[in-house]
Amino acid sequence: MAHWEPVLLANVDRPNSEKIDTYLKHGGYKALRKALSMTPESVIAEVKASGLRGRGGAGFPTGTKWGFMPKDAPVKYLAVNTDEGEPGTFKDRLIVERDPHSILEGVIITAYAVGAHRAFVYIRGEFFLGVKRWIKAISDAYQHGFLGRDILGTGFDLDVSVHRGAGAYICGEETAMIESLEGKRGIPRQKPPFPANRGIWGKPTLVQNCETLANIPHIVLRGAGWYAGIGTEQSKGIKIFCVSGHVNRPGNFELPLGTTLKEIIYEHAGGVRKGREIKAIVPGGASTPLLRGDRVFTPMAFETLKEAGSALGTGAVIVMDQTTDIVEVVRRTMRFFVHESCGNCLPCRVGGHNILSLLEKLTAGTGTMKDIDEIEYLANGITGRTFCPMGTGMVEPVLSSLKLFRGEYEAKAAGR
Ligand code: SF4
Repeated sequence: MAHWEPVLLANVDRPNSEKIDTYLKHGGYKALRKALSMTPESVIAEVKASGLRGRGGAGFPTGTKWGFMPKDAPVKYLAVNTDEGEPGTFKDRLIVERDPHSILEGVIITAYAVGAHRAFVYIRGEFFLGVKRWIKAISDAYQHGFLGRDILGTGFDLDVSVHRGAGAYICGEETAMIESLEGKRGIPRQKPPFPANRGIWGKPTLVQNCETLANIPHIVLRGAGWYAGIGTEQSKGIKIFCVSGHVNRPGNFELPLGTTLKEIIYEHAGGVRKGREIKAIVPGGASTPLLRGDRVFTPMAFETLKEAGSALGTGAVIVMDQTTDIVEVVRRTMRFFVHESCGNCLPCRVGGHNILSLLEKLTAGTGTMKDIDEIEYLANGITGRTFCPMGTGMVEPVLSSLKLFRGEYEAKAAGR
């Protein structure tokens, strides 16, 4: 196991890690001073050169996204997505609760780079401690002159406030989040126009995930070359992997992108409980396709997971040992997505419900072989045909499990 000295999680286990004094004592807000001495264009260039891609699931290149923000717009907004809801994912919550200033410093630098003077933190309602930590961090940053008017005497102004969501999964999707921020029901908007052109109240808006923002101070301070030197050719930098399921030591592990699933599961997460074999792995959160257990040699990177038939997603690794009932896992996952469907488009709203009913029949022992074909037919009818990506994400576990573990479905239909 190659040793990796944590960068993003360096502070989380320190006593009083959430306090501004602790953050300052360990080099906090140095990157902000450096960024404010640079031009906004050079900060964007640095982030582009680092190769950082969004850590919220979509993996879009961060510097390119910043470059989409119009330069001459008089009002621009930054929205901080703290609506972490993908099952198996618990990394943003850890940083918000234990090291909120690392994200806030990234927020201020990002706002400066894109010319935004107003930022909104959107956080899931259930993150009670996270809400408190965000509010306290923002308040302390104002007192230290890192927020407000004329930040550190540079003439740059920024105000940040916190908006609590109500726990809807779909509000993690950027346009649904914007609707919710505006006080409306959280349903996705038609794209284009993209938020960079028409976001919050019709103004250009940059939406970024917490982990992505936490990377920014380190890129500014240590340079794009340092960051781009970590990871693989197409997946640069560091990632927090959330490991759960049948492992001995579940948790968050910060490692370079390209680390294999085998190293993550066996060396960092303590291996599989009772020494059992792995049956299946969800590599990037519940909406990414399952992999068979023999894919443990796959490096956790955008390109290698795509080649393996899945996706990096949020980096949430869910491990299932050989005792797992795959059809039951898919039924539970489907129940979650059906519950969370915003109901705005028919394939997701009705198709998802129909698949769930058939899965329930199978797990109750009353399903038939025809039901399996029907599940597959419906799932194929949903993928790529919904208003937002959640519809496709919803059927990924269904389609991948049918491909890899069809025998388990057939055994249920045959009453075994
Ligand atoms: Fe809503 Fe359609 Fe997206 Fe499902 S796919 S969450 S119904 S917009």
